[in-house]
Amino acid sequence: MASRNEKRYRKIKKHHILGTLIFLFIFCACMSVVLGGLVRYYIEYMLDSKLGAEYRAVVLIADVSQNYREREGHYSFDIVDDEGREFFVEDADGNVIFQNGGNTRSDIGRKVRFSMFSDQVEVYEDSVDNAIFPGHDGQVHMNIGEVAGRVFSTFTGELDVRVFSPFDEKTHMPPESQADIYVTDAEMINMPLWVAVDMGDSGNRLFGKIYFSAEIKDIILLVIIASIVVLFLVAVQILVLTSTIRSLVNQHRMTDIFFHDTVTDGHNWMWFLIKGEQLLRKRRSAKNSYAVLDLVFVNYRNYCVCHSVAEGEMQLKRMNRIAGRSLRKNEICSHYASANFALLLCCNDRHELDDRIKALISELEKTEDGQRISFHVGGEIINPSIDERGRYVRRKQVDLEYEYNNACAARSTLSDRDESAVAFFDNKMFEEQKWVNTVQANQQKALDNNEFVVYYQPKYDPQSGRLKGAEALIRWQSPEFGFVSPGRIIPIFEKNGFITKIDHFMIKSVARDQKKWLDQGLTCVPVSVNVSRAHFIESDLAEQIRDMVDEAGTPHNLIEIELTESAFFDDKKAMIYTIGKLKEYGFTVSMDDFGSGYSSLNSLKDMPLDVLKLDAEFFRGENSTERGRIVVAEAIKLAKSLNMRTVAEGVEEGELDQVRFLADQGCDMIQGYFYAKPMPGGDFEEKMKNPVTN
Ligand code: C2E
Ligand code: MG
Ligand code: MG
Repeated sequence: MASRNEKRYRKIKKHHILGTLIFLFIFCACMSVVLGGLVRYYIEYMLDSKLGAEYRAVVLIADVSQNYREREGHYSFDIVDDEGREFFVEDADGNVIFQNGGNTRSDIGRKVRFSMFSDQVEVYEDSVDNAIFPGHDGQVHMNIGEVAGRVFSTFTGELDVRVFSPFDEKTHMPPESQADIYVTDAEMINMPLWVAVDMGDSGNRLFGKIYFSAEIKDIILLVIIASIVVLFLVAVQILVLTSTIRSLVNQHRMTDIFFHDTVTDGHNWMWFLIKGEQLLRKRRSAKNSYAVLDLVFVNYRNYCVCHSVAEGEMQLKRMNRIAGRSLRKNEICSHYASANFALLLCCNDRHELDDRIKALISELEKTEDGQRISFHVGGEIINPSIDERGRYVRRKQVDLEYEYNNACAARSTLSDRDESAVAFFDNKMFEEQKWVNTVQANQQKALDNNEFVVYYQPKYDPQSGRLKGAEALIRWQSPEFGFVSPGRIIPIFEKNGFITKIDHFMIKSVARDQKKWLDQGLTCVPVSVNVSRAHFIESDLAEQIRDMVDEAGTPHNLIEIELTESAFFDDKKAMIYTIGKLKEYGFTVSMDDFGSGYSSLNSLKDMPLDVLKLDAEFFRGENSTERGRIVVAEAIKLAKSLNMRTVAEGVEEGELDQVRFLADQGCDMIQGYFYAKPMPGGDFEEKMKNPVTN
């Protein structure tokens, strides 16, 4: 169960985070590609359109000059000098043969393209700070940051403004200064580069300074587009991130609620199962033994009744705190339910574990007000699994709930003790559990195959020694397990509810037997049938019994219904109602095992019962002493005063003294081995035929 919950829990957890993260990742990747592509495309477009035109102008100067030389025999740059462009011409040996303006190009040129749409051009950087530069990759690059800086400087009017025009406004000539930066037109920014152009076949080369001139609004447009895209990207990222964080926080809260125990404010059982199983599956814990403990506050309900539920819960909180403090690394503890706590402790040394449990109990017992409270601990050891080569095997599947159930089974063996105690699940308990499972698996089949049989134990009048009645007791004659006594099956049936079917079977069988014996002409005596307390929740129980007996055609006075003493504590009202009905239909009703458990004197007051069956314990060991006899004598007197008959149960073989004593006290019947053990129907028939004992 736990692993199913663990899977569900993980699914919820992963689903949220994974989905958001995947979305965030894909979105960012897509947007980055789109943004990068847009910016790159725009820059290339600008470079191509601006630098391309500039380059073609330099080519034109070179062509015109070359043509002139071919025509006139010498160069004349005056025809192109109007442009005021800076350029110079180198001959094949690298000597400058003509120069217009300064030569501020760098020494190393590179073959680059202005954009993917243009041819390769030899480009030199200008010695002035340059926002455009030829790259190793054969492309001309624009440094966006620097360009943005220049735009910004233009607006702020800072000194290092790189905005200029190559022309002096007055002279329309380049200024004398070699500085490349002039502030004349705040609407434009120009960035210099040198390009080399071959001048025909002469071997001379013309180096012209070209400018990337852009209107600031173009740059601003670029910056705005880029900024919008970046802003949008950032906004979406922030949105997705905040939603991820929010869902993480919610998840954390959900986990807290999922695992929170409202009573102790600590962890709950679900957390214990998930964490515990994770812990047990871990590779490094494979060689460790663990102990699963069920720690219980004994008589918690009584404590709540005496104090209050709130105080009881305070004690549970305190238990949780103290148990939590006693934990070491890789050990866990949680509240299970009611006053039960589950602990998972390392247990490589059994003695040490025992000492730790004792220390925990004594710490828990120290209450502030010095009140005595006690605790029961049930334990189950989970040993490491070892393969055939003696290596520790990692536990793949761990059913912690099953192990905890075993610890509970061990703890339940202590239920009759009031003081603190510890019990561990052992082989005997394991066998018992196996037996419970076997019984459960076979019960219906056994009923269908008539493996359950009715035994009759006669009841005799101690005065006359005459057969006065009998009790029907179930036996299981199993072909597989042999003869099984009710002590080994009835408690199991009572727990799993099968007892109601058994009770029906017994009533029907007894009614049928009685009818058969009546038809044979035998003098029948009333036979009592045990009816379990579980049956009393059914409001029509009396009618059910009546119908079953009527079906067999048996007179109602031959059937007696036995109710156990403890059943009288369940629902008094229902009990009184059903007893009244049964009596109305003519059945006799008796209280079984009177005096065995809680005081039922009060029940005697309210219940209109016919028969009181004194528990066998009255006639055992110390109880058969003088004081015991006084109690029995008074109980018989009490029953008589209430107009009830008495049956003494469990008077053993050879106890003639007791039989005489009971006869003297006026006890109506004795049911015990002294007279007869429970016997099959056939043997009981013989007893009816010879109703007086010798
Ligand atoms: P119970 O109803 O109190 O039955 C009396 C038990 O005491 C019987 O045990 C009987 O064999 C035993 N007994 C009688 N005289 C003596 C004696 O002198 N010495 C000793 N040592 N024992 C004596 P049994 O048959 O083992 O039944 C045990 C209990 O199982 C019954 O106690 C009853 O509570 C329950 N049970 C048996 N059959 C049924 C049934 O058909 N339905 C239900 N609901 N419970 C049943
Ligand atoms: Mg009985
Ligand atoms: Mg009894």
